[in-house]
Amino acid sequence: MYAVLGDELPYIEKFAAVTGQQVTKLTDYLSLDNVQLAKGYDAVVTQQTFDIPDAVYARLAEFGIKQITLRQVGYDILNIQAIHKAGLRASNVAAYSPRAIAEYTLTQLMNLIRHNKKYYRTTTAGDWTWKVGGQAKEIHELTVAVIGAGRIGSALAEMLHALGAKVLAVDPVYHAQNEAFLDYVSLDEALKEADVISFHTPLNDQTRGMANDAFFKKIQKKAYILNFARGPLIETEALLKNLRSDKLAGAALDVLPNENDFMNRVQDPKTVPADVQELMAMDNVLLSPHVAFYSDLAIKNMVEISLKDAVALAQGERIENEIFY
Ligand code: NAD
Repeated sequence: MYAVLGDELPYIEKFAAVTGQQVTKLTDYLSLDNVQLAKGYDAVVTQQTFDIPDAVYARLAEFGIKQITLRQVGYDILNIQAIHKAGLRASNVAAYSPRAIAEYTLTQLMNLIRHNKKYYRTTTAGDWTWKVGGQAKEIHELTVAVIGAGRIGSALAEMLHALGAKVLAVDPVYHAQNEAFLDYVSLDEALKEADVISFHTPLNDQTRGMANDAFFKKIQKKAYILNFARGPLIETEALLKNLRSDKLAGAALDVLPNENDFMNRVQDPKTVPADVQELMAMDNVLLSPHVAFYSDLAIKNMVEISLKDAVALAQGERIENEIFY
């Protein structure tokens, strides 16, 4: 098990005790440099935002390993074709807790519309005055466009609807049960109507760079952008242009296209990429270190489901979370 976090240990140990399986815990991401540590084992599990080079799959196959399991939802770091070509099977944990991400998205939306970053900064510096333009929007006044109404997007939509917001959804896949709390519309219609645009699609060839200059031209003035899915869905330069010009009222981002250059380590803020520094300096931009998933329930389910699935795949069984393309 690669990339193990301290919080995962009790669940890993419980799994090993209950099933009798031996689980070896490594702290590094799976890479070409450390794939040989999997030799002699029957299965591998990892969780990471770093791409896994195709050569890793071939090495795993050489060791007699038959699968690769991610204990996360997004599997854009995997080359599924190359995995299948190497004779392996792949799986993710498609639903460890959609609410974990949906609740954090809602939290950050509330922080944005309340201007909390600005008030925190000013009060910390001793300034307790009200700010012109510092009045809030209320959630029930807002129209929110959810781009990708899958597990996470629909969980967010349901909560927003319960709070009185109007929710529009853009998704090529229709789920009738979602009609109870959202309206399906076209992307253009959503961008025209929405006060808030929240991304919850997978990263793939259709969605990469979706929020580009053309996209931002279609949005309402003073809209908010939320990205709790994958960084490359939004072109940072296009986002910055619209923040600088005040076309956007603000943004909350848990993911960034270049996050692997600085996330998961402690470093001098002046050494992060220039575009990120500019976002950091803006009072109306909230950044977080890809933690939307990071809840107690999510960690428990990620560990238990991934280990169970890895064993099942290694034994040639069928599982619900297998990725076919
Ligand atoms: P899901 O598969 O249940 O839902 C994704 C939805 O997006 C589907 O309904 C799909 O039809 C839709 N979609 C696909 N292409 C689209 C397009 N071009 N336009 C509009 N909709 C489109 O997945 P989910 O569990 O809701 O997760 C969504 C994404 O969130 C994941 O792929 C992952 O990248 C990201 N994620 C982020 C974190 C985090 O910690 N920040 C945690 C988990 C997941």
